[in-house]
Amino acid sequence: MNDEETLTCPTCGSAAVTVTAEQMFMANTGEHYCHSVKVQDDDAQASCLGCQWRGHRVQLKVTVK
Ligand SMILES: [Zn+2]
Repeated sequence: MNDEETLTCPTCGSAAVTVTAEQMFMANTGEHYCHSVKVQDDDAQASCLGCQWRGHRVQLKVTVK
């Protein structure tokens, strides 16, 4: 990830945004299977802690310093 870029909320502009990774595990053994959605994926679920906006990572605004 590029440290020069900041992701911000498209609604309120807050940088307090989160992304959600999804992981799959084997139901019987609990063994890790794979990441089905990684945090850097465009379709990772994203949300804002400031205004409760929810969407996908691709919708976040990228600010380059
Ligand atoms: Zn927001």
